[in-house]
Formats: sequence, C-alpha cells, structure tokens
Amino acid sequence: MQQRQLLNKHHPGTGKAKVNYLLSGKIFCGLCDSYMNGHSGTSKTGKIYYHYHCRNKDCRRMLRKDYIEKLVVDATTQYILIPNNFNEIAKRCIAIYKEEQQVEDKTNSFEQQFAAVKYKIDNVMKAIEAGIMTDTTKSRLTQLENDKQNIVKEMKTSRSIIICRNYPKNISYIC
Ligand SMILES: [Zn+2]
Repeated sequence: MQQRQLLNKHHPGTGKAKVNYLLSGKIFCGLCDSYMNGHSGTSKTGKIYYHYHCRNKDCRRMLRKDYIEKLVVDATTQYILIPNNFNEIAKRCIAIYKEEQQVEDKTNSFEQQFAAVKYKIDNVMKAIEAGIMTDTTKSRLTQLENDKQNIVKEMKTSRSIIICRNYPKNISYIC
C-alpha cells in the first residue's frame, strides 16, 4: 500500500491512466484474418478485464491482453532483439524513417498545391461574380476544377499508402 502511494505520488494520475494496447494495429485474428481491437470489460464483481477482440462479428475471437502481449514481447526479445540483428534493425529503421519523410514531404506538397488551386478558383469566381463571364473564364474554371479533383485523388492515394505502412500485417495468431 505504501509502495502504491509512493508510486502515485511520483506519477499522479497513474490509476486513471489510459490503457495502452501495445499490439493495436499490429495483431490479426489467426482464425478469420480480421484486424483485432483492444477492448475492456467489467465482470459482475467489478474487476476490469482487458482483451483483444476480433472485429469480425461472426468470429469474435478474444485474447487476453497480458497473455498475448507477453508472448509477443518475449518472442521479440528472444528472436529479434539480439546482437546479430542490430545492424539490420538499424538499417530498416533508417529506411522506414526516410520513407515516412518522403511521404510527409509529398503530403505537404499536395496541401500547398490544393491551397494554390483553391485560391485561383476563388479569383475566377470573383471575376464571374463581377460579370466577367467569357469562354476563357469558363474554360479556365473547368481546368482548375479538374486540377483540384486530381490533387484530391492523389492526396487520397498518398494517405492510403501511409495507412498501409502504419498498419503492417505483422502478427497472426492462432490459439
Ligand atoms: Zn476472427
């Protein structure tokens, strides 16, 4: 009890801390291949249980959080985080970082392009509202609208690449 009080003193809010599901986005059901979510429930006695649930409603496989997380951490420590792999891990970390940086640069560039095309459309619209409605303003507006749609399309593609990279299909588990 004294230890707990000491812990809370140094880490206020520890008791209320949000639960961290280490395998969120990285664990897939070994039975149906669906993504698994962190989930908590309270028993009749008031005890809180933490699990990973299969998102497939027809499957609903459930794994105890502490059990599966310990298994994965142990296996990672035993087979992956060993001196023989350090060079390879460092290389891959750098490669992932560079790739993410490129995607971020690309996203920033799309955002700038989008803002620029929107600004031009606003200007053409102002001209039209002021009564300047010629074949040139019409075709210019059509061209700009097309440009805008293309940028949005490319932004969406770029975002889905980021999502795929952030949620690699790392772990499938059957028990
Ligand atoms: Zn499942």
